[in-house]
Amino acid sequence: MQTRLQRFEFNQIRMGVDTPIVVYAPDEEHAVRACRAAYTRISALEQMMSDYRANSELNLLCQRAVGRWVRVSAELFYVLWRAQKLAHQTDGAFDITVGPLVRLWREARRTGKLPDEAALQEARARSGYRLLELSRAKRAVRLHAEGMQLDLGGIAKGYACDSALRVLRQHGIQHALIQMGGDIVAGEAPPGESGWKIALAAPTLDDSTNYLLLKNGALATSGSTEQYVEIEGVRYAHIIDPRTGLGLTRLILARVRARDGITADSLATAAAVLGMPDAKRLERLYKGVRVQVWEAGLRQTATKLTPNGRL
Ligand code: ADP
Ligand code: MG
Repeated sequence: MQTRLQRFEFNQIRMGVDTPIVVYAPDEEHAVRACRAAYTRISALEQMMSDYRANSELNLLCQRAVGRWVRVSAELFYVLWRAQKLAHQTDGAFDITVGPLVRLWREARRTGKLPDEAALQEARARSGYRLLELSRAKRAVRLHAEGMQLDLGGIAKGYACDSALRVLRQHGIQHALIQMGGDIVAGEAPPGESGWKIALAAPTLDDSTNYLLLKNGALATSGSTEQYVEIEGVRYAHIIDPRTGLGLTRLILARVRARDGITADSLATAAAVLGMPDAKRLERLYKGVRVQVWEAGLRQTATKLTPNGRL
């Protein structure tokens, strides 16, 4: 006879966001052991990919790889590779070399002032995906300008959710849901159900709440409605438009469904920069991906996604 599975839910902060994990396991001990391992895994990825931590593998790479090849861990290389692939596909709309511009944005959020033209020019000279070179054979990275700063904020959380799900599976857990901010990755549906019921809070003004049933796949939301700095009546979102070097100023929300979190997360960020109709083209580039974009009549602060595994 099969043991009856029970539902367990945990929540910890990782990569600066609430990271709930919901699992079905035979008993609490099993659930705790598996989820602890999943959180430990995410912590390891944070130490690898964070741009906030001075000694992360990513930041050490930025310091060492100017003009010379530096070998990196397999996981960091994979994420960089996927990011560069998307950069090429979107002609740089998705661009992890925006680090210097992101730093200017953070400064603007602190001071309430836009960067001056000289600072913007200087940061732009240190950005651009063509300045980042990858060698698959060497599993190494080379940077082509001093002071470059890589930023995986638009892709790492999705990858971390994927990795956490793999860890849970290694612990024998199949029915699982992991959320990191706007990124959700699901394994098998809750026992006896056809999917994890995710409440999609209405991004639009009509107040409609939709539900989506998710299993063995990922869902990501990205856009300019939640994190922004307002300067002289203009809102600059935390997503940089590499064409201007500034935060997105138009109101946009993108939602992407994909097979895995790394794809959903990065494509959602890309879709927010691209806007319609270009964002829709991503569906042709990635198998099984669905992209939705809202641009008009958006609520300024749209709560993103609420996973509700209970339903
Ligand atoms: P969130 O951080 O709210 O989950 P996203 O997944 O869209 O939202 O990621 C936004 C983050 O991605 C920014 O905070 C920044 O670190 C990084 N970023 C900003 N602009 C770009 C861009 N054009 N391409 C890739 N990454 C970006
Ligand atoms: Mg993203």
